[in-house]
Amino acid sequence: MKIQNFDILIIGAGPAGSACALMLADSGLNIAVIDKVAFPREKICGDGLSKDVINQINLLPPEIKISFDNIVKKLPSSGVRFYSPDNNCLEIPFDNNDNVSGYVCKRRYFDEILVNGLKKYSNIKLFENCEVIEVRTDNESVTINTKSESFSTKMIVGADGINSVVSKHFSPTIKNKKHLCLGLRGYFENVTGFHKENFIELHFYKDILPGYLWIFPMAGNMANVGIGMLASDVSKKKVNLKNILEKYIHTHPNISPRFENAIQIGKFEAMGIPLGAKKMKISGDRFLLAGDAASLVDPFTGEGIGNAIRSGRVAADHIKFCFKMNRFDEAFNVTYDKEIYRRMWNELKLSSTLQKLFNYPGLINYAVRKANRNEHFKKLVVDSMQNIDIKKKFLRPYLLYKTFLH
Ligand SMILES: Cc1cc2nc3c(=O)[nH]c(=O)nc-3n(C[C@H](O)[C@H](O)[C@H](O)COP(=O)(O)OP(=O)(O)OC[C@H]3O[C@@H](n4cnc5c(N)ncnc54)[C@H](O)[C@@H]3O)c2cc1C
Repeated sequence: MKIQNFDILIIGAGPAGSACALMLADSGLNIAVIDKVAFPREKICGDGLSKDVINQINLLPPEIKISFDNIVKKLPSSGVRFYSPDNNCLEIPFDNNDNVSGYVCKRRYFDEILVNGLKKYSNIKLFENCEVIEVRTDNESVTINTKSESFSTKMIVGADGINSVVSKHFSPTIKNKKHLCLGLRGYFENVTGFHKENFIELHFYKDILPGYLWIFPMAGNMANVGIGMLASDVSKKKVNLKNILEKYIHTHPNISPRFENAIQIGKFEAMGIPLGAKKMKISGDRFLLAGDAASLVDPFTGEGIGNAIRSGRVAADHIKFCFKMNRFDEAFNVTYDKEIYRRMWNELKLSSTLQKLFNYPGLINYAVRKANRNEHFKKLVVDSMQNIDIKKKFLRPYLLYKTFLH
């Protein structure tokens, strides 16, 4: 089999891989982006694009934002509804000072615009329907095999999602269920009772904590409905995610009346969500990991698209530096790990703390009730959603003690 040679191989054309390639487009490097499926493709997801995702898109080449603005089937969302275990609801509008709103948009359409963006660059070659099945390394290069082709490179980026073959080859760490969430989602038509400004909904009920059930309104009278729970709880409590989600849809007083005329489109589908609750080794000799392959999903919200794009961007900057210095070794690449965690760890760590607090239903009930009664406390909650420094302050033990016991 003839081996094709590229400066960089990026495995996976999801948000992490596409962002990395887009940010390398002006580098003059010869890049191959390889994905096991052809785009447009579905990706199991809640389809929630937070304001952080929109801000990340704004940092990619400008044509990406133009393509995003042209997606017809996306719905702007300007807030979130939190439902507590005792069935109260707290509405939190997103801060609108920057004129950026969140969206709900099928990944089929979102990921397609990123991949289409790659096609205009002559130094980026996209290989679709090309599953990487083997990775081999020697001192000089990395070689990968798909069923029909072989590629070699100086440097490989594993942006191939939760079951990354690149990560398995380079850092076959033991999978830890403690930092893994299982998500299940389905699409429904005719769900009623949404907020008039399309707030996304997170429902925190006792038997799924610290996980939650979500109902996200979508364009075309559709909704993305799903549930996420820690994998360790799913096995410990022997939970069947589909049964538990259907139980809520059919019987819960907050939810079932809204599904009276709803029709499910397609079937429920499940997938793992690798939470960024622990620092990992995400680089080494001739490799970098990005996005889900590097476990960068927010442990509290389950959002991973923003950090996938962010890590792809950081990987691109690092790769440019590697070629400038002609260094591809582990000692040099460790600065990539440092930069990723410098940018993301504070937020990930705070979200881990929040996730732990959400094990206590009484605490959530109390916080939601108090926020609905007390404008000052509500503002603190609202502000902490958008501002990491306020979130940090909010989660200080003293303030928590003062808030909940007084
Ligand atoms: C149920 C669920 C709900 C979620 N909801 C949200 C949400 O609402 N908002 C949010 O921000 N995040 C959400 N996430 C997380 C989000 O989906 C991921 O964090 C995000 O997709 C990560 O992007 P990525 O580019 O790293 O990986 P992916 O999007 O998974 O892309 C990886 C790509 O690699 C390709 N690939 C895999 N293996 C190979 C191989 N061997 N060879 C070649 N190609 C390969 C795949 O085909 C895929 O295109 C959710 C996840 C789940 C499971």
